[in-house]
Amino acid sequence: MHNYQFHEISTYGGNTSCVEIIAGNERIACDMGTGFRLLGNALFGEVFKTKILRLTVLLSHLHWDHIQGLPFFGELYLNKESGFKNDFTFYGGTNWQSGVESCLQGQMDPPLFPVSFKEIEDQTAKLQMNTVHDQMSFKIGEAVVKTRKLNHPQETYGYRIEHSGKVFVYATDNEPYDPLYPDPKLLDLAKGADVLVIDCQYTKNIYEGKVGGVPRHGWGHSYPEAVAQIALQAGVKKMTLFHHDPASTDEQIYQMEQNTQNLVHALGGNTKVIAAYEGLEIEL
Ligand SMILES: [Zn+2]
Ligand SMILES: [Zn+2]
Repeated sequence: MHNYQFHEISTYGGNTSCVEIIAGNERIACDMGTGFRLLGNALFGEVFKTKILRLTVLLSHLHWDHIQGLPFFGELYLNKESGFKNDFTFYGGTNWQSGVESCLQGQMDPPLFPVSFKEIEDQTAKLQMNTVHDQMSFKIGEAVVKTRKLNHPQETYGYRIEHSGKVFVYATDNEPYDPLYPDPKLLDLAKGADVLVIDCQYTKNIYEGKVGGVPRHGWGHSYPEAVAQIALQAGVKKMTLFHHDPASTDEQIYQMEQNTQNLVHALGGNTKVIAAYEGLEIEL
């Protein structure tokens, strides 16, 4: 009987970056791409019962594919006049001249969207904006969060979340300086991670422009040969390939997963490699 592979019976999905983390009583979202809309939908039932959503958002950076889900996050419109006590906290870099707040405001300014971010700020029970920088450490409840700067156009951060002896690392939108020698900042961030979510957008051939058009140097994304080294050198237990290329088919993403797993094994590593798909849940 034919043994079907994931890409033959399902799809990795096409929404942009959003990962939810539950750490004890805390709910954290890494990035607010279009997947953020689905997170809002999934939480509606619970929020209507409890009348509160307490959520901390860690923004890798402010490129559109990481913030465009915000205006479509339903809980934004459950305001204090209706009895909702929502409590939103956003962390992100300064993105050169503009802070987190002005960028989130900007994408909802008229005529880009019918509700302004200012209205949301006025009508939400609690809403805070915090700026991060490299090597910062702060707490979200009992979870300890650490930041490291990544290599991507404009200011971009990876986040390490430690809770109950487990380590989750979110490091997307990152380009290797040298595939054989991972950036020490990234190794520091990912050291001993139980789960590392890592940018792996291209194949090496696409990155180098040998196929698929122009080289992608300087575009801020990675490929299997580089992330396999990170898995090995940082001693990562499970690595999730993330930020798939919109041009990749399901089969190409599956091949990238297999290729990365083979590269890890060839280097003598035992990291389990998984290509991220929508709805993937991992218990640490
Ligand atoms: Zn980006
Ligand atoms: Zn991106």
